[in-house]
Amino acid sequence: MELWYTERQTPHVGITCQVKETICTRKTPYQELAIIDTFQFGKMLVLDGMVQATEVDEFVYHEMITHVPLNTHPHPQDVLVIGGGDGGTIREILKHREVSRAVLVEIDKEVVEACKEYFPHLSRGLEEERVEVLFEDGLKHIKSRENAYDVILVDSTEPVGPAVGLFTREFYQDIYQALKPQGILVAQTESPFFNGDLIRSVYKRISSTFPLTRLYLGSIPTYPSGLWSFTLGSKEHDPLKAGKIKKTLDTRYYNQEIHHSAFMLPGFVRDLMEED
Ligand code: SAM
Repeated sequence: MELWYTERQTPHVGITCQVKETICTRKTPYQELAIIDTFQFGKMLVLDGMVQATEVDEFVYHEMITHVPLNTHPHPQDVLVIGGGDGGTIREILKHREVSRAVLVEIDKEVVEACKEYFPHLSRGLEEERVEVLFEDGLKHIKSRENAYDVILVDSTEPVGPAVGLFTREFYQDIYQALKPQGILVAQTESPFFNGDLIRSVYKRISSTFPLTRLYLGSIPTYPSGLWSFTLGSKEHDPLKAGKIKKTLDTRYYNQEIHHSAFMLPGFVRDLMEED
């Protein structure tokens, strides 16, 4: 019998994949977690019916959320990830030797445990000495921090459930306080085709908090519409003036040219950044 999984990305559009095997499904205190093995994308982590990461295309998202800011900051040492329980973003951060401390603040312990079991390729960095894993709400963690991190990456689920607060002006203001003077924030900000209103309001909130705000794009087949946005807020350094990127990293999507071209935006995306 053929089994197919559909994520309803909007009320009228979905992505459908043929399933080899349902590996696990469970209800955690925060969300419904499923891991399925698919013919096209390999193993897939699904939270509340939304694809978070797949073996085949996770590298795009994890490289883009990480290397753009870490190659813009002149000397990133302390890096915080909010969300990101699959471990992929931490794995990329650890490729930067000058990072001495990478902190993961994930609200749901069961996501980390399931990914350690079924996605070792993503989560292998979580055991490293430079990494600290805290199971708490990112909103709470950031409230009590000042001048603590060089780079903060918001690797969150979609703005539903516990992640709603991770898209608010107050949260970005707390992040500003938690960043050191040359600090940089990057947040995943969804699809320009399907989430234009969200991108518009997040861009406005970050640009009213940080002196420099820029939006950049990456192409991720299993995310809604395949085109994904990231919003960067910086206290001082401009990614477009980063010049030659500092080091050769072991990457499959991100490179010197992508570091710049990801910021070259189509007109309809640029329009999202204009004042109404
Ligand atoms: N790459 C993914 C995407 O954009 O689809 C994000 C993946 S990662 C698994 C997202 C994580 O954010 C989830 O494990 C979820 O538990 C966590 N999360 C949601 N709200 C949170 C909060 N308030 N504090 C910390 N972690 C949170």
